[in-house]
Amino acid sequence: MTNPCEACDMEEKVYVCCGRHPETGFRMPLQIGEKRTVLACPCLEASGRCTVYSRRPQACRAFFCDGFDTFTFMADIFPVPTS
Ligand code: SF4
Ligand code: SF4
Repeated sequence: MTNPCEACDMEEKVYVCCGRHPETGFRMPLQIGEKRTVLACPCLEASGRCTVYSRRPQACRAFFCDGFDTFTFMADIFPVPTS
């Protein structure tokens, strides 16, 4: 299974975790479709990727999302032995 963030819908991403920069509070218009513009963290790009991911703020690293709270995802990280 892939990281749930990679498959996350942009509308959800902006609503849940990346709608503004956690330290500065800044948000900027981001065009995510031909006719759709949302307000988002300035570090978020239209593809859904964080442009500063490797040095993202601690608040982003510590953010817990329900998207990760699934058995499937956890089982992917900690596989259950079959024998
Ligand atoms: S933290 Fe949650 S809402 Fe944010 S991109 Fe990942 S799965 Fe989506
Ligand atoms: S710094 Fe990156 S991970 Fe943090 S809110 Fe902005 S886009 Fe999202």
